[in-house]
Amino acid sequence: MICQTVKKGTDCFLMKSTGCSFPGGSCKPIIESCEGCGKVTEINNLKYCVSYPDPASRWVAGTCNLATHIKRDVEQIKKKINPLKASKKGIRS
Ligand code: SF4
Repeated sequence: MICQTVKKGTDCFLMKSTGCSFPGGSCKPIIESCEGCGKVTEINNLKYCVSYPDPASRWVAGTCNLATHIKRDVEQIKKKINPLKASKKGIRS
């Protein structure tokens, strides 16, 4: 449905006929780590993420996986690949 709260006019899966179903009832602003990301949008002088309603939660367990302003090195990405799944897919490290 079309958002009627923070990102008015954008299509959002969290918007229901009863209102925003996200805890708290609306998107939360970005955090400092998000500054410089290409997914930041400014609405009413506040900055929000176009992909996540709660940007802070994307940084709890490390780097946000959709961040456009962070360059990850190959070793960091390899560590995240499950070795068992990688062998099944034929991925070599
Ligand atoms: S994609 Fe990640 S880093 Fe970029 S604004 Fe959203 S939460 Fe922040």
